[in-house]
Amino acid sequence: MPRVETPGRADLLIADAELLATVDGARREIPGGWVAVTDGLVSGLGGRADPRPEADRVLDGGGCLVTPGLVNIHHHLYQNLTRAFAPALTGGLFDWLVTLYPLWARLDEEAAYVSAYVGLTELALGGCTTSTDHLFVHPRGAGDLITAEVAAARDLGIRFHPTRGSMSLSAKDGGLPPDLVVQDDDEILADSQRLVELHHDRSPDAMTRIALAPCSPFSVSTSLMARTAELAEQLDVRLHTHLCETRDEDAFCLQTFGRRPVDYLADVGWMTERVWLAHTVWPNADEVVRLGTARVGAAHCPSSNMILGSGLAPVAELRAAGSPVGLGVDGSASADSASMWLEARTAMLQGKLRHGAGAMSARDALEMATRGGAACLGRSGEIGELSVGACGDLVVWPLTGPAFAGALSDPVEAWLRCGPVAARHTVVAGRLVVQDGVPVRAGLDEQLAVHRRVAQRLQS
Ligand SMILES: [Zn+2]
Repeated sequence: MPRVETPGRADLLIADAELLATVDGARREIPGGWVAVTDGLVSGLGGRADPRPEADRVLDGGGCLVTPGLVNIHHHLYQNLTRAFAPALTGGLFDWLVTLYPLWARLDEEAAYVSAYVGLTELALGGCTTSTDHLFVHPRGAGDLITAEVAAARDLGIRFHPTRGSMSLSAKDGGLPPDLVVQDDDEILADSQRLVELHHDRSPDAMTRIALAPCSPFSVSTSLMARTAELAEQLDVRLHTHLCETRDEDAFCLQTFGRRPVDYLADVGWMTERVWLAHTVWPNADEVVRLGTARVGAAHCPSSNMILGSGLAPVAELRAAGSPVGLGVDGSASADSASMWLEARTAMLQGKLRHGAGAMSARDALEMATRGGAACLGRSGEIGELSVGACGDLVVWPLTGPAFAGALSDPVEAWLRCGPVAARHTVVAGRLVVQDGVPVRAGLDEQLAVHRRVAQRLQS
């Protein structure tokens, strides 16, 4: 058993939880548990019999499940500006993208800030404490979109891993996007390096880290994929892209590169632990083993994969093969919702649908939503678990009211099988971001008004 520490005085104490699910190395679950946070880090945890510290602020966990904060490892925050856009609802991924690229070409810094502010608030209400973002549209003259969204995350106090997305292969060169949203390789690589130098924090309790993220095989040149991998190696940052999302992509890769997506990934130097991939719906059995052996991570996005009709990802197979697997809400123009609780529940249901009722439990889904995501981001031990020294990121989930009446035997199963439920309290680095189900920072109504104006501009 890991040691229980009782510091002199904590900043925050969550006391008397119905159950504290630590998702730590031993997967300890502590009925009546408490957890203390000091200077942004977990400083102690234990059960009813363990002495607990005094704290400046004490929150009652009675009737609640306490988990680590959820880690969202795939998203496109700006897409909440074109959420459920009616003309893009009928086709599959390629039709959907081609309809929306021209709207996204109107992005600017105000749009990046307000979409991140609203999107990260939405995520925090659903129990997310760390989110990635994949902003791959950088129209000419749009300004520094990534820095604008970093500012929103800092204003809100959410842990944030934006990726410097990119597109370099336009329709005139055989790609999918129009010319007005692509950039050339040198420009992308120089901006990637600039953003890493500006924002990437290597400390274990970092609030901001940058990864590099060419968008997908059908929107990026081969040379950009290879050169981005070299730059990530040089800068020691992680790599992210979409891969194996649809059968259309398989056909595109066979036709354009003469090989399947995973072979293409290997050719451009991306079969490394540094990489996590969004979707991975269509790797075949041999490719699953290759991805697992290379410890390439996967962001499972079940709602998006269903709403675009992309398919059911081989999640159990990837985990068994050795890939870390986390969850992503994906852009809020495809999945439209952005609740990590909902993604975890949907992942559980899909897992049961694929392999039988016993194949994917609520604990498996919780693990993917926390530890699994942390591993994909290279942050095992720092986030995604509650253990002494880990970041003080946690969620207090109410298991009360009509939706949970009668669910007495297993609070973790109840958390995901009953509901729907949102966070009562969301805590990042020991600071409340959501308290009693409401965002702590004032000004959301004003930001929503700006968001509406900007969304109307993009959709007009
Ligand atoms: Zn995506």
